[in-house]
Amino acid sequence: MIDNKKLKGIMHFLVHNSVLFTVAIMCLVHVVLLVVMLISDVQPLFFFNILSVVIYLFCLLLCKIGYLLPVYISILLEVTFYASFSSYYLGLKCGSNLFLGSIIPIIIYFGCILFKGRDRILIVFLLLVNFSVFFFSYMFLMDAKPLYEVSASVRSFLLVFTAFVMFFSIVFYNVIYIYSSEYEMNTLEHENKQLSADAKIDLLTNLLNRRGFLPIVEKLIKSEPPRHFCIAFCDIDNFKRINDTYGHECGDEVLRHITKLIKKEMQGCDICRWGGEEIIVLMKDYDMEVAKQKMEYLRKCVESLPTIFYNQRISATITIGIEEYSEGIKDSEELINIADKRMYYGKQHGKNIVVFDD
Ligand code: GH3
Ligand code: MG
Ligand code: MG
Repeated sequence: MIDNKKLKGIMHFLVHNSVLFTVAIMCLVHVVLLVVMLISDVQPLFFFNILSVVIYLFCLLLCKIGYLLPVYISILLEVTFYASFSSYYLGLKCGSNLFLGSIIPIIIYFGCILFKGRDRILIVFLLLVNFSVFFFSYMFLMDAKPLYEVSASVRSFLLVFTAFVMFFSIVFYNVIYIYSSEYEMNTLEHENKQLSADAKIDLLTNLLNRRGFLPIVEKLIKSEPPRHFCIAFCDIDNFKRINDTYGHECGDEVLRHITKLIKKEMQGCDICRWGGEEIIVLMKDYDMEVAKQKMEYLRKCVESLPTIFYNQRISATITIGIEEYSEGIKDSEELINIADKRMYYGKQHGKNIVVFDD
């Protein structure tokens, strides 16, 4: 069995070597056809296939040195002429005309790699030429008698073979197109995360990220004379279930909504998106009693104000662990750990509660 990593490696290779792969497949197709024409004694097409193999071998060389445009032109010309000549010599029943269908994804996919902006009108032009050749050769040869009669089994083989090449081409280019756009999306997402870490702001919620938040806590801990402050570690309850039931987009919206409520209720505080659905509130000059009341009020607010997502009301609750800074606590890590443990205790005791001591 191919594991996920290997499959990704193969797809990555195919996306980045798609022209080379295409030329190699084209070459193989013509080797097969060459043998069939030799066996069936269709001399003109036998020689045409030799020429095609030579062209594609040369194209392999061009691919290696990165000349894609001549390769693109060679593929289009070769396939157009081969499909037309082959239909002319063997008749439409051998399906050679389908080769014109098999290059449609190639015209579009490689065309988009080669041409940018307004030049892409060329792709439309090439597609029209392709369709015209298909249409007129079909009309012209519909009632014509083939110049060479091949046996019924060779005819069937050629038809199935050409249809398979067309089918393979459509599936292959769609798969690599989907893979490469997904790959680009993931890369962008990754870069966005990197950027937001650099910028100290979380992109989804506009809250501080760890990088922006921790120095503020550290500075408070080191301030002289020591300052009074509390932190609250908030975690959305059953957030995974919200994602699973309504989708990730809805989960994002719930996260934004709860963030807005916290910002509104906790004005003047530094607020950080600590991780996925974890938010820390830093309450300067608050003692435990005030922090408790504030957090209890916030908890009720979140409980009673659901998120509206595409006309649906999505209820959510949060569990909060609070800790007040005291001189025994040596750094931000220890302080946050205590609040986190209290939050965790709340999770194990029914959720949707505020925990403020051990
Ligand atoms: P608990 O009540 O114990 O906290 O359960 P939970 O489901 O909230 O917690 P769990 O840790 O099992 O799952 C957290 C989920 O949050 C899993 C992850 O997919 C989701 N998540 C993390 N970051 C984001 C985000 O930015 N957007 C969305 N929509 N989901 C996220
Ligand atoms: Mg949670
Ligand atoms: Mg969590």
